[in-house]
Amino acid sequence: MLSSETLRSIPEGRQNNRLSEIIRHRAWVEIDRDAIAYNVKNIKNFLSPQTELMAVVKADAYGHGAIRVAQAALQAGASWLATATLGEGIELREAGISAPILLLGAINTQEEVAAIAHWKLQPTLCNPQQSLIFSETLSELDRTLPVHLKLDTGMSRLGMHWEQALEFVQLVKQLPYLKIASIYSHFATADEPDPTTTKLQHQRFQEAIAQLKSHGIVPPRLHLSNSAATLSDRALHYDLVRVGLALYGLYPAFHLKSTVDLKPVLQVKARITQVKTIPPGTGVSYGHQYISDREIRLAVVGIGYADGVPRNLSNRLQVLIRGQLIPQIGAITMDQLMLDVSSIPDIQVGEVVTLIGRDSDKEISADDWANELGTISWEILCGFKHRLPRVSE
Ligand SMILES: *Cc1c(COP(=O)(O)O)cnc(C)c1O
Repeated sequence: MLSSETLRSIPEGRQNNRLSEIIRHRAWVEIDRDAIAYNVKNIKNFLSPQTELMAVVKADAYGHGAIRVAQAALQAGASWLATATLGEGIELREAGISAPILLLGAINTQEEVAAIAHWKLQPTLCNPQQSLIFSETLSELDRTLPVHLKLDTGMSRLGMHWEQALEFVQLVKQLPYLKIASIYSHFATADEPDPTTTKLQHQRFQEAIAQLKSHGIVPPRLHLSNSAATLSDRALHYDLVRVGLALYGLYPAFHLKSTVDLKPVLQVKARITQVKTIPPGTGVSYGHQYISDREIRLAVVGIGYADGVPRNLSNRLQVLIRGQLIPQIGAITMDQLMLDVSSIPDIQVGEVVTLIGRDSDKEISADDWANELGTISWEILCGFKHRLPRVSE
């Protein structure tokens, strides 16, 4: 099934019953909605019943398409959404999604505050200055907004230093038009097997909350955990967990694979656009980084680094065709890449190449690319660009 998002990106006259063929003519991302539901349900089963699941759909749901992921996650049992930016939050509201949406990023201007109030989004406040901007703007608008206060317990990114939690919370409490909806923090090393730093951050959070309590302040909600913390320790779950990566079926670390069963949601596929034979000694692609040492059957594929296939994988990438691993050769270009398909002599133009995903008994995951490149799967996933149409199975 094609979503209305995909349909809207196709010119009117082309919306015929062969649309799915047009969408899949060059390169595309396949999204398995059932896998989203599977992951959400398994994560929810891992949580205690009173802990809510916040689906983190920032960066276009890590390249999966924010609207459809948000809808599928909410349907399967998530009750909150989170985005990084205001624009991402508005995109969800414009699509008719009414669930509470937390904006994880910092907000510093009155224009943004007005838009947040208009779209009924829920901001993160990181310091007194931001809180004052909110309170002033909201009083002009005569609107009250739920706000989420962020403490820095050791990430050294957004948030008020945990030792200043009491002052900060007391200030926000006495500002009109702001209603504290939660207090939260974020872990720096929850994906590492050594829990020392995570424990220290948790301890700081607990101390800050205990201090608030001793002054009669009991926030309605507390939260701390990303995917890694959610999978590693139930004591870190509190009232809700903010889960991104695991929702998409990937594990934040190898040692967390035995926790909850997850299925990858995304596959990246493309078609072969031309096939040719090159003699020995022929250079392939820009810079001739690859020169054939024998006669080679070469296939061109319609996907490149502008779609999210990192150029640094040139000559190191493998893809799947007919359930076989096939080596990529020469520099990956902006829109195309080349393969050595000598092992499939009868290969045809139009055949489907799986770059990430399953084909027969073989699978290539975002983790394989990340390991090869020395980066993390998060970066690979959100590298898949809008030029790739998203198709839901
Ligand atoms: C991105 C983000 C998350 C989700 O992280 P994952 O590791 O993908 O689960 C949670 N909390 C905050 C503050 C984030 O920025």
